[in-house]
Amino acid sequence: EKNVDEGKRVEFKLDKVCELRFEVENNEEVELELKSGMAEIFGTELIQNKKYVFYSGGKIAVFTWHGCVLELSGKTEVAYIAKETPMVMYINTHAALEQMRVKAETDNTSGPTVMVVGPGDVGKSTVCKLLVNYAVRLGRRPTFVDLDVGQGQISIPGTIGSLSVERPADVEEGNFSLQAPLIYHFGHISPSVNINLYNCLVSQLADIVQMRGETNRKAAISGVVINTCGWVKGLGYKAVIHAAQAFEVDVIIVLDQERLHNDLKRDLPKFVKIVLQPKSGGVVERSRQHRVESRDAKVKEYFYGLSTPLYPHQYDVKFSDVTILKIGAPLLPDSLLPLGMKQEDAHLKLVAVPPSNQLLHHVLAVSMALTSDDDIVRSNVMGFICINGVDMEKKVLTILAPAPRPLPRSILLLSDVQFVDTH
Ligand code: ATP
Repeated sequence: EKNVDEGKRVEFKLDKVCELRFEVENNEEVELELKSGMAEIFGTELIQNKKYVFYSGGKIAVFTWHGCVLELSGKTEVAYIAKETPMVMYINTHAALEQMRVKAETDNTSGPTVMVVGPGDVGKSTVCKLLVNYAVRLGRRPTFVDLDVGQGQISIPGTIGSLSVERPADVEEGNFSLQAPLIYHFGHISPSVNINLYNCLVSQLADIVQMRGETNRKAAISGVVINTCGWVKGLGYKAVIHAAQAFEVDVIIVLDQERLHNDLKRDLPKFVKIVLQPKSGGVVERSRQHRVESRDAKVKEYFYGLSTPLYPHQYDVKFSDVTILKIGAPLLPDSLLPLGMKQEDAHLKLVAVPPSNQLLHHVLAVSMALTSDDDIVRSNVMGFICINGVDMEKKVLTILAPAPRPLPRSILLLSDVQFVDTH
């Protein structure tokens, strides 16, 4: 293990099937260069002699199939070469999925829908990224679905969504390029806050992803890779089962938890292939604090960009020009429910939110819905705004938006997620 210090360049020689793992120290940057050989980060190939910069808190593994020489400079928390990795197992999974795609091509059917499940911090997102990247590198166009409302990779926290992927993820930012992502607003960072709404949105997303497959042959053959939440107990487990059914998954990869593997085998039909795979020793457990920070970073990135800066707009909107809603009414005791109404209905009910100072710093989703006659709960969203100011006297909201005025739609959905815009 070496610690890389400021001003020094440290060289690492990797044998085949090894990886260099490093973490960027807080508020520091680390530069990486591939000097010779070939290497990849979570499935995206590196270009020789190009300098890649990683920022505060980044946890990276540079893997090589054939051996390589790497150079690091900047301040790392840790940096070491690992010889034991589950990468061979992961690439075998990829190979099996690719065979299913080839078969789908000849049989005129659909490629595999694979879901990655497991508790928190086992590398689910990373395995999804690997599988998607490897598929893309073979010329496929897989659909990536992220059902993780806490630490999702497609949009900001509090959402689920899908993306058709054409290019490997960006090495430095770790993201797939966002071309026409399909995003649904959930509004909370854990499915437990409104599990009925969560399951309803998962079903909706599954329907749309399936419909896209019907009109796009290439997407259908390429299949779907689904990332899930780390909540796998009780209702969380039920949500995993629900997602498996909604997306009609063919394969489930269970990371690191034998019990979950056994439970899924017991509860899902035999034609679903369920495999247990180890987690990588490199996956770093993230503290609560780290999770909070990475959620904030995700919202900041939405408005301000990362390595390519974005320039959001701030402007005023009259209270009377928008309709602010929240999904989910407070639950009443069963005895007080109107006749014929079920408790579930309340979970999906739209409630008007009168403008007030309580909206300050909240993120709001801009619904695609045009009028209140549309199915607002099941409509996808166009994007997000943040409330930077509320003037009760003038009756205006000051909002931060990714695009210049006017707001493209007037129905806004309140999220628990907050962002304090310090720019
Ligand atoms: P959660 O359920 O909490 O979202 P997860 O199971 O999806 O977590 P990941 O996000 O994939 O976990 O991984 C956790 C962290 O570990 C990430 O910061 C990722 O970059 C890092 N990581 C993953 N694999 C490795 C590795 N082999 N070496 C070093 N770091 C790694």
